[in-house]
Amino acid sequence: MSIFVTGGAGFIGGNFVLDWLGAIDEPVINLDKLTYAGNRETLASLAGDERHIFIQGDISDTDRVSQLLTRYRPRAIVHFAAESHVDRSIHGPEAFIQTNIVGTFRLLDAARTYWNSLEGEAKADFRLLHVSTDEVYGSLAKDAPAFTEAHRYEPNSPYSASKAAGDHLVRAYHHTYGLPVLTTNCSNNYGPYHFPEKLIPLVIVNALAGKPLPVYGDGQQIRDWLYVKDHCSAIRRVLEAGRVGEVYNIGGWNEKPNIDIVHTVCDILDELRPLKLVSREWRVDSGKDMTPPPTYRALITFVKDRPGHDRRYAIDASKIARELGWKPAETFATGIRKTVQWYLENPQWVANVQSGAYREWVEKNYSGPAEKTT
Ligand code: NAD
Repeated sequence: MSIFVTGGAGFIGGNFVLDWLGAIDEPVINLDKLTYAGNRETLASLAGDERHIFIQGDISDTDRVSQLLTRYRPRAIVHFAAESHVDRSIHGPEAFIQTNIVGTFRLLDAARTYWNSLEGEAKADFRLLHVSTDEVYGSLAKDAPAFTEAHRYEPNSPYSASKAAGDHLVRAYHHTYGLPVLTTNCSNNYGPYHFPEKLIPLVIVNALAGKPLPVYGDGQQIRDWLYVKDHCSAIRRVLEAGRVGEVYNIGGWNEKPNIDIVHTVCDILDELRPLKLVSREWRVDSGKDMTPPPTYRALITFVKDRPGHDRRYAIDASKIARELGWKPAETFATGIRKTVQWYLENPQWVANVQSGAYREWVEKNYSGPAEKTT
């Protein structure tokens, strides 16, 4: 038996593959196009592990996906592959339409043909789990109740609109063709191997380089934050016990304004890697102590808000808790500390992802912080 993962060299997919093979002795077939966001170094610890089969390829290539499914005969597909960055979707929506809508459609079509070819228990047990976002629900008023699975779809960015379209296609393939699907809509993830265009890694990486920490608008945009390994455990649980055709919201019960996130990261860095002020330049661990010691918070710079920036997302994750008994293991305080620690211990990973195509794009287009999706 094996599972087929798409986008398993990205932030969440990469964490998921590592987590899966750490917890379960079942091979993973990992199909990833290796866009700027895909990074094989995230999977370096799996070198020589025969349970991990990496294939560079596009989910939009139906023939290739069909051949792979027929060859490896997985019992499930976990679909992470996406263009995932809101800012990029504002600058260039086309790739989002292509991967998140057309790509998801083609993957579904290949999955349907494969599923139809199965028989008996293999057919009954097969699942396709589609990983999606809370951003499909749109923006919430300050005092409105958190998003439940019944909340109507009101996507506001090309990214969230393309994910919403993917979610609808997944739903349609279940209702029309009977494909046994599961959908998860998750809040903002943070943790190891996160690309430094997203808010938390951007703040850590910029702070360590003594660069400004850009914060959009007034920094009061509220998001729910979930440690990525908790997202991985939730996906495993849904795959194992979720009811076919159902949607499960996944969240950390951690609503926080962006500015609080930036303050928290600065405070942890102040403790773990104190700044020293050296002749008007910010340097990390320069060894030349000046008093009073400066704080990383001094690097915060407010920048023009992103167009159409949603004010608040909040996830009601009570269905997955009630039905499947899942809850996050980390609080925000413990998860964010682990995350900062990981970036301090892995400067080479950061340096490598900041080279090449990523850097070119940032230099050309990027003026503010990113948010996640991500
Ligand atoms: P990411 O951008 O870090 O990774 C995406 C991966 O998909 C990359 O490895 C990339 O190479 C690959 N990919 C892109 N286009 C592809 C294609 N056409 N064919 C094959 N592979 C392709 O994204 P992420 O943050 O890991 O997000 C993964 C999934 O989770 C996405 O579907 C996203 O919408 C969803 N999600 C993300 C968050 C978050 O906070 N990051 C929250 C909720 C949901």
